Amino acid sequence: MYDIVIVGAGPAGLTAAIYALREEKKVVILEKETIGGKITSSSKVENYPGFKSISGMDFANNLYEQIIDLGGEINIEEVLSIENGKVKKVITDENTYETKSIIIASGSKYKTLNLDNEEELIGNGISFCTVCDGSFYKNKDVCVVGGANSALNSVLYLSKLCNKVYLVVRGPKLKGDKKVIDNVLSLSNVEVLYNTTVNKYILDNDELVGVEVKSNECEKRLDVEGVFLAIGQSPEIDYLNDLIKVDENNYVLASEDCITNIDGIFVAGDVRKKEVRQLTTAVSDGTNAAINAINYLKEV
Ligand SMILES: Cc1cc2nc3c(=O)[nH]c(=O)nc-3n(C[C@H](O)[C@H](O)[C@H](O)COP(=O)(O)OP(=O)(O)OC[C@H]3O[C@@H](n4cnc5c(N)ncnc54)[C@H](O)[C@@H]3O)c2cc1C
Repeated sequence: MYDIVIVGAGPAGLTAAIYALREEKKVVILEKETIGGKITSSSKVENYPGFKSISGMDFANNLYEQIIDLGGEINIEEVLSIENGKVKKVITDENTYETKSIIIASGSKYKTLNLDNEEELIGNGISFCTVCDGSFYKNKDVCVVGGANSALNSVLYLSKLCNKVYLVVRGPKLKGDKKVIDNVLSLSNVEVLYNTTVNKYILDNDELVGVEVKSNECEKRLDVEGVFLAIGQSPEIDYLNDLIKVDENNYVLASEDCITNIDGIFVAGDVRKKEVRQLTTAVSDGTNAAINAINYLKEV
């Protein structure tokens, strides 16, 4: 019987594991794809305290080594379902784990356009996060794809740094707060392209040099070095099967204490309902979830 089963080996899950292992709890971390989570697809991280600049892969490797040094167990298995009870069960594609508590740290997936070369360009020309990657495009031309609040906020952020920002909007109008829309439309270095979709990423020697966009009237090329996709995220919660309370966008409901509505089940990282999804907030959640799981274990 495990003390804590952690679902997801991203920064949130691995941080939770560090705290639990240091308290000598019996822990297993289950990961379906990549140890380190989403950050492994970032070529450069420059906003994590203590590291001026580090690749996402090195960041993940450091975390991995820290877990292994603490005697942690990470198994590459996909969690398919969870059964609640005094003894909880976590069922994967290979095993069933019995445990006293669970930390859900399965993150979220950014939505993409499903175009050729997209996967290779993520972290190297295509980004989802202006706060993380905006400064790499200082004085350059970029494009933002999306038409709602997160796209609008990305444009506001980038317009201060970049030479020119195109906003590619699939529909005939922008959706979001009126004030923010007015603000975006007033910017002289922003051009909004309505009823327009991105057709193709244009590469030169494997580097992104532009996109081809298509509207009802025409197809044209935008010479941009960066593309910011702001078309939404979806939390990875299929395996929860309505067990836990989530919001209208399927993010797991819990406050900063990371305690869910089910006794002994905690949540950490991007999968939790919150405003800011970053490494720093993921590791903060991992800490809170682990400490509250450890406190829970004292009572059962
Ligand atoms: C290209 C890119 C660049 C970024 N750059 C930065 C940056 O510079 N600075 C910054 O602060 N943030 C950055 N971010 C955001 C940052 O990566 C996330 O906020 C952070 O990874 C969230 O950590 P997490 O552990 O909550 O989730 P994730 O990293 O998403 O990890 C969740 C893990 O759970 C696994 N999982 C999901 N479902 C299951 C299942 N059923 N069974 C088993 N495992 C499962 C997933 O495979 C994944 O590995 C970037 C993100 C991307 C994509």
